[in-house]
Amino acid sequence: MIHEEAPVLIVGGGIVGLSAALFLLHQDVPPLLVERHSGTSIHPRARGTNGRTTEIYREVGLDEKIRVAGEALAPALGWLTGETLVGAANWTVERWQQMQQHNFAFGGKDMGTLSPVSGARCTQDLLEPLLLEAVRERGGDVRFYTELVSFEQDDAGITALIRDRATGEERTVRAQYMIAADGARALIRKQLGIATNGQGSQGHLLNILFHADLSEMVRGREFSACIIERPERRGLITSINNTDRWVFHLTYDPARGETPDDFPPERCLELIRDAIGLPELEIQIQSILPWEAAVRVAETFQQGRVFLAGDAAHQMPPWGGKGANSGIADVHNLAWKLAAVLKGRAAPALLQTYDVERRPVGYEAAVESGGMSGKGGLPDGNMFLFQAAQKGFTNDLAAIFVRVFGFGYEYASTAIIPEEGPALTVAPGTPDGHPGTRVPHVWIERQGQRISTLDLFGRDFVLLSGPEGAAWCEAARSIAARSNLNLVAYRVGPAGDVQDTDNKWQSQAGIQTDGAILVRPDGFVAWRSQVGTSQPEQQLEMVLKQILMQ
Ligand SMILES: Cc1cc2nc3c(=O)[nH]c(=O)nc-3n(C[C@H](O)[C@H](O)[C@H](O)COP(=O)(O)OP(=O)(O)OC[C@H]3O[C@@H](n4cnc5c(N)ncnc54)[C@H](O)[C@@H]3O)c2cc1C
Repeated sequence: MIHEEAPVLIVGGGIVGLSAALFLLHQDVPPLLVERHSGTSIHPRARGTNGRTTEIYREVGLDEKIRVAGEALAPALGWLTGETLVGAANWTVERWQQMQQHNFAFGGKDMGTLSPVSGARCTQDLLEPLLLEAVRERGGDVRFYTELVSFEQDDAGITALIRDRATGEERTVRAQYMIAADGARALIRKQLGIATNGQGSQGHLLNILFHADLSEMVRGREFSACIIERPERRGLITSINNTDRWVFHLTYDPARGETPDDFPPERCLELIRDAIGLPELEIQIQSILPWEAAVRVAETFQQGRVFLAGDAAHQMPPWGGKGANSGIADVHNLAWKLAAVLKGRAAPALLQTYDVERRPVGYEAAVESGGMSGKGGLPDGNMFLFQAAQKGFTNDLAAIFVRVFGFGYEYASTAIIPEEGPALTVAPGTPDGHPGTRVPHVWIERQGQRISTLDLFGRDFVLLSGPEGAAWCEAARSIAARSNLNLVAYRVGPAGDVQDTDNKWQSQAGIQTDGAILVRPDGFVAWRSQVGTSQPEQQLEMVLKQILMQ
């Protein structure tokens, strides 16, 4: 049998596994990814990257490509409800125009002072090929139609058996770590005996992808989703490209003896015509995918050398748009830590902070998403519209940013050094420079080019000081020169390495002119010194040792 080696084995080539491969390659770690299907997802599934995810993809140069790929869907906003789409309540042009004004979630609106990007509409069937292309451009080893058959772990690594489903050929792979991005069925998690928390199943649905030309009907009043509310059956129509691609989510009830087989294409066709309210409409059904709306969060995201990520770690109904987004943030958190350990820059104990940091975030997202489900697992119309009204139709951009765009959390672990002093008065996750939060975005100038502070992160630890913080920068450079740490430093100010053209950095970062913050490769503030100190090198070294557990 052929034997091969890889630093990291990724199981699952869905949106999370492909993102994991990309982020590891960005850290110069070449993983091996196996995916049992023959290609990327044919179903649209997730329909957007939230603000934080778009920032993450900006690090690897994909944000603009994603926006362009999802352009056709971008104007779709707002939830309708009615007995048919044609008769859906509130489907007026005025309402559409009102919603468009607030379409910073996915519509490409400028997020102003909060982020260099906004969320982007893009369905998974369009996004995954972009990830795959980026992975392959960087030399990534992605093997489709190849499955993990079994694995064992010992103190030094993982031994996995993989099989090429086309030829039947089996190989063993010896990897130092394994990422289980194997989706909601989560066979690896089950094999490891990791239990889950959460309310479990909320309902069973069929995801019916269909082709029907509704372009005339929706032009100028595009909608995101329409809940079809009938006494006998609930359904949901979601827009995929605002013209001829749509998905109908249909509930079925195993408790009443129903199975997906009870819904052959001919029956689905009739149900969709009824739901739209056009009995003569020409429709082609392209694919039917059964799925379960459920809340299940693994009790731990790590067991030894195996890390759970994405739906394998936290299954949640998609109504909050958090499923894929949470999984992408998982592997973004994990990739730099794996790289640091594999390159000998951090002790393996750093990896334990993955579970400590990501599990509470995954749990909260899953429970919140579960709270949006109504009967049969479809969204609760009243609840959802109520929440949208709270979150979406307010002008308080900062509140929206923190709550729904993937920023409403911060990390607390040994890889973050908390600040002493009075309790914070800002909402959790508000980017004001305090340790554990995503570093504030400020427009700055580097070598005559306007960039965001966020453009400085992604690969290295970065120290950013105020205009009189040269001593911090020298300390960081001295440590980098005599260690293998990937640490870079910038003095932000008029005569600094980067210019604070809008004069916002210090107030946003919460530092004095001689203060500094240290940012992890994932863009989260690890430590902050609001002022200068007499022994910056000593202090910075201590901080880094603590974070990297060396
Ligand atoms: C209808 C629907 C709508 C959604 N809408 C949204 C949304 O708007 N926003 C959002 O954020 N999320 C949404 N989601 C959720 C989102 O699709 C999932 O959270 C996301 O796909 C999870 O990605 P993943 O990579 O973890 O899992 P998956 O995409 O399920 O990928 C797992 C992969 O692992 C592979 N695999 C499994 N076992 C093996 C093995 N032994 N060997 C090799 N490969 C294996 C599978 O073939 C699969 O391709 C939606 C989901 C659904 C079903």
